[in-house]
Amino acid sequence: MTRLCSGFAEARSLSVGTVGLVPTMGFFHEGHLSLMERARTECDTVVVSVFVNPLQFDRADDLAAYPRDLGRDLALAREVPVDIVVAPPYEEVYPVEALTRVGVDRLTDHLEGPRRPGHFEGVTTVVAKLFAGLTPHRAYFGRKDAQQLSVVTRMAQELRFPVEVVGCPVVREADGLALSSRNVRLSPEDRQIAAALSHALFAAADVADSGETETAVLERRAREAVGAIDVEYLELVDAAEVQPLDRLSPPAFLAIAARVGQVRLIDSLWFDASEAGPVSDRGVRLDEPSILYR
Ligand code: AMP
Repeated sequence: MTRLCSGFAEARSLSVGTVGLVPTMGFFHEGHLSLMERARTECDTVVVSVFVNPLQFDRADDLAAYPRDLGRDLALAREVPVDIVVAPPYEEVYPVEALTRVGVDRLTDHLEGPRRPGHFEGVTTVVAKLFAGLTPHRAYFGRKDAQQLSVVTRMAQELRFPVEVVGCPVVREADGLALSSRNVRLSPEDRQIAAALSHALFAAADVADSGETETAVLERRAREAVGAIDVEYLELVDAAEVQPLDRLSPPAFLAIAARVGQVRLIDSLWFDASEAGPVSDRGVRLDEPSILYR
């Protein structure tokens, strides 16, 4: 049975054994569900938080347009099944005037950091509150938001939260587009164009898989494949500190951001270390269109 809670204390009181947390902003798709399913296999209690965190939005229009449907999310969580959905009101997360912020330096100097002022401070502040309020043993994050995963991992380590941060593969549409709740705002034409972000990453991964490690070569190949899209950045960085690399040295990720129509999209492709050299993680693809469009 899936319980809906609005308070952290109630969610904590219902949690037994190993607790796995999946932090989300709701409007679930198969990417979110993959994190919940992974948590289900590894934890006794699976907790999913649904909170559209105003502090991490750098644009009021993006916050206002963010899709929300808690009834839909609950029905999908029940299918996993998730034990607890926590959908806190604003006051549960920000009980008094917000004077305390959590920020991570250096890891936020590139990619999303300079382009979305205050974004990561919003993310790390709310994730720290979720870790403190829900005391998970494991927390599951998607590799799509690669810099976020690196930043949260570092924050948990430095603040000594007793939680293991687990990164999970990117779930993609059949044509490669990474699932995102924002995809529902793409027009049909832009939806077709948006697949090019992933094609750029895959083109670079093809070159890397053939043994190439020079960043300039990987990035050039990706830019050739991206076509006419308005790319904000395309950069290979190390996963630990999110700094630009001259040569591919895993763990690392290639990150891309682009504006397609009204929507700003991001995607990432991770390279893991193995004895045989870097291994590219292209994520998993759906056979059918995502439940986002149902
Ligand atoms: P969001 O609701 O967009 O904040 O996302 C909640 C969590 O789901 C984050 O850890 C995201 O990285 C993860 N996530 C979002 N999209 C995907 C995807 N396509 N594949 C895997 N994880 C995802």
